[in-house]
Amino acid sequence: MGWTIAKGGAAATGAASEVDLTVTNSQPQRNPIRALILCGVFLISAIAVGTSMMIYGFRERALQSSMRELENTVLLLARHFDQQFDDFALVQQDIINQLNLGMITSPQDFKREMSSEDAHQMLKNKIGALSYMGNLTLLDSEGNLINWSLGWPAPKANLADRGYFQALKSNTAPDQKYLEAVHSRMSGRWTTLLSRRLVGRSGEFLGVVSRGIEPATFEKFFESLSLGKDATIVMMHGDGTLLARYPHLESMIGQNFRSGPMFQLMLSKGGRATARFIAPTDGVERLGASLQLANFPIVLLATNSVSAALSDWREQTRLMIGVATLSVVLIGSILFLIVQRLLRQRRASERRISLEKESLDTAINAMSQGLVLFDSENRLVVCNQSYTAMYGLSPDVVKRGLSLGELLQHHKDTGSLQADVDEHCALVLDRVASEKVQIASVGDGRWVQITHQKAVNGGWVATHEDITERRKAEEKIAHLAHFDTLTDLPNRVLFREQLELELKRIRRSGQLAVLYIDIDEFKSINDSLGHPVGDELLKTVAARLRHCVRETDFVSRLGGDEFAIVQTLVQRPEDVTDLISRIYSVIREPYECLGHQLSTDASIGVALAPQDGADLDELLKNADLAMYGAKADGRRTYRFFEQDMDARIKTRRMLEQDLRKMTADGGFTEGGFDIHYQPLVNLRDNEVSGCEALLRWRHPVRGMISPAEFIPIAEESGLISQLGEWVLTKACAEAATWPKNIKLAVNVSPVQFRNHAFALKVASTLAESGLPASRLELEITEAVLIRDDEVALTVLHQLRAVGVRVALDDFGTGYSSLSYLQRFPFDKIKIDRSFVNDIVESDGSCAIIQAVVNIAAARNMTTTAEGVETELQRDLLRRLGCTEMQGYLFSPARPAAEVVALFGDQRPAAA
Ligand code: C2E
Ligand code: CA
Ligand code: CA
Repeated sequence: MGWTIAKGGAAATGAASEVDLTVTNSQPQRNPIRALILCGVFLISAIAVGTSMMIYGFRERALQSSMRELENTVLLLARHFDQQFDDFALVQQDIINQLNLGMITSPQDFKREMSSEDAHQMLKNKIGALSYMGNLTLLDSEGNLINWSLGWPAPKANLADRGYFQALKSNTAPDQKYLEAVHSRMSGRWTTLLSRRLVGRSGEFLGVVSRGIEPATFEKFFESLSLGKDATIVMMHGDGTLLARYPHLESMIGQNFRSGPMFQLMLSKGGRATARFIAPTDGVERLGASLQLANFPIVLLATNSVSAALSDWREQTRLMIGVATLSVVLIGSILFLIVQRLLRQRRASERRISLEKESLDTAINAMSQGLVLFDSENRLVVCNQSYTAMYGLSPDVVKRGLSLGELLQHHKDTGSLQADVDEHCALVLDRVASEKVQIASVGDGRWVQITHQKAVNGGWVATHEDITERRKAEEKIAHLAHFDTLTDLPNRVLFREQLELELKRIRRSGQLAVLYIDIDEFKSINDSLGHPVGDELLKTVAARLRHCVRETDFVSRLGGDEFAIVQTLVQRPEDVTDLISRIYSVIREPYECLGHQLSTDASIGVALAPQDGADLDELLKNADLAMYGAKADGRRTYRFFEQDMDARIKTRRMLEQDLRKMTADGGFTEGGFDIHYQPLVNLRDNEVSGCEALLRWRHPVRGMISPAEFIPIAEESGLISQLGEWVLTKACAEAATWPKNIKLAVNVSPVQFRNHAFALKVASTLAESGLPASRLELEITEAVLIRDDEVALTVLHQLRAVGVRVALDDFGTGYSSLSYLQRFPFDKIKIDRSFVNDIVESDGSCAIIQAVVNIAAARNMTTTAEGVETELQRDLLRRLGCTEMQGYLFSPARPAAEVVALFGDQRPAAA
């Protein structure tokens, strides 16, 4: 995403609150526990339903089988009793046959014949064979009991009122047989009577033979079937009268149950029925099967209570329920254990996930980069605090589910997006597609690097990193690589690059100048006043240089005290010299560095392109050479490159080597050194007042070499100390031989003043030579004082204390000299040759010399004019009030032997 933040984006929300970082699947996960529980419930229900169905099925089967059993029972009983009753009919037929009724012609005969003891015996025999048949009774045609099997004679009784008798007598009973339950008048018990009509030969009614069976007989048989405790077996007459019942219930015998449900059902079903019903007698639900005998009006009914029929089933049910319950409990417990374990696992994994989520949250929010994660539909999934803070977004708005468009709209609303939302949306998606890294500039000077990356699920991630600091650092590094830290000027690298460009520019036409500027005496300022002062001086020099060039020119610092200027658009040599004079005028201005008053100067070398070298390195080398040329020519000046400069520099190097050789063994070998003396003449009386010792070097190869050439080399290489010492010793020894009024002036290099023991050395030299201190004059330049050097000042005061005079040499050469007069009370000022040179010219230095003379007089100093070559100059100087003069007019420097002649008739010191 690339937004331009308008202002204060990052600072807007300091407290970006927690953003929803929940990373969950959008689809609800299937719950295995619920599925498991559902399975368990289903299984248990299945067991319950299955068990119930089985129980129900078993119940029905139990009832059916019980019913079948009852059916079978009645069938069996029916067969049995059909058989029995048939047997009985046969027995009656047999009896009838034995009675030989064919012989009996009247009922009276029958009564007589049958009431005999034989007849009784016969009946008894018959019963004896078939004990189950009960007793046999014979009634005559009047219904009188005439004989029976129970005993003889039979008791008197008339049974003509009995139904069976009447039915048989009137012959209305089918098959001449009749079955009936009667309440016996003899035994007082209910008996089932099977009676048969007896007829004579001609078919007349003779009487009735009855067979009486007591219920107990049937019931005993019923019992033998052992149907079960709740089972009942009932034998009824076809008219509904109960004949026998097992278990025996006296009260029910003889009752009519014709209206009973079973009986009715049986009647409706044609003599055979099976049903479940509520027993009218006890209200118990029962199963029953009834059947009517085929040949007799007898109905058999077997019942069992439903509850008894189901007793096995109940056992079974109990077992099944037990098993089912056990299974349910087992399944339930296993499920419970599994679910519990799953829940534990799930809780643990939830805890782990939440922990992971928390650490992810922390990690994401701890990121310094802003992070946004979108899903494949460009809806926000994750956004960290750095992101909202970076753009000053509201965490209440930036929430999960926010669309890219809405987010950008919020950016726009809060001021961190300027572009059109839709256009920017398309732009972002384009960058996502190409996974571009983009650096966006931010309104308040911040920079954000945005990286887009596609995610596996079709979504994408953008990280926003505030790279402002990094860019600043990079810029700083780039600046450091091209700019000098101290002065903030372009450094050597940038200088070369720029110069290269400029050289290309002038390839066809035009010219440029390269100026190498070296600050004179900088090293000694740095060494004596410390680096902070030196740095301050360089900074000021840099600032001043920058101000004196045009816009097309540029200044750089090449290192140390070396600066360079590329002057472009150079047309005439004056353009360069104008710049140089501007440079000198600004450089020579006084400096105020950390409380130190300083002044400085510079040596400038100039090389012009293309004439001094069109190639960069050559040009630079030549500018450098020119600068060295300026240095060699006494510094404080500039030099244009000249072709022989190279040679001159080489010579200088060689001289330095030669100088070194002379001091290589530690001691000083005089070699070609000599001292010449130049007289100083009093302007009032024209008398020689003293001599200046001037060093001479006769080089074995190069001949005479000017001290102006080799002294700077000796100073730079540090050899000046030994050389200066030698000069002092030798000159003092020489001067000691001179007349007493002739003073000796010796030049001392600023380098010698850095030595604390210099005054001591001077004192010991004087003592050694015997020259009085008052006759020695040391000439120092302003350079000694330029650095505000405490050591130099101390040494000067020590010298003064010894009695040695001190002269300020070369006064007026560039420095704001007057200020130095304040620092040390000199004895003499030596006005530089350059002033004396043009003293006679109209706009010359006359006024300056006059001023110097006045100042000197005011401070009790004498003045010496140097380099006086003409009488005109001498006369003018005399008029101006100068004390002394020195110059070729009177005498150049001469060897010691020669100079003595100039002292006139004055007596030598020794004399
Ligand atoms: P300086 O101290 O200014 O010495 C005067 C220089 O001016 C001498 O040059 C001298 O020969 C020259 N001179 C004198 N009168 C005239 C004149 O009328 N016209 C012209 N054009 N020049 C004149 P020299 O001997 O070449 O010395 C040059 C400089 O070398 C001296 O300048 C001095 O600063 C330095 N120097 C010479 N000897 C010594 C020395 O022993 N120690 C130190 N430290 N510096 C020395
Ligand atoms: Ca001098
Ligand atoms: Ca001088």
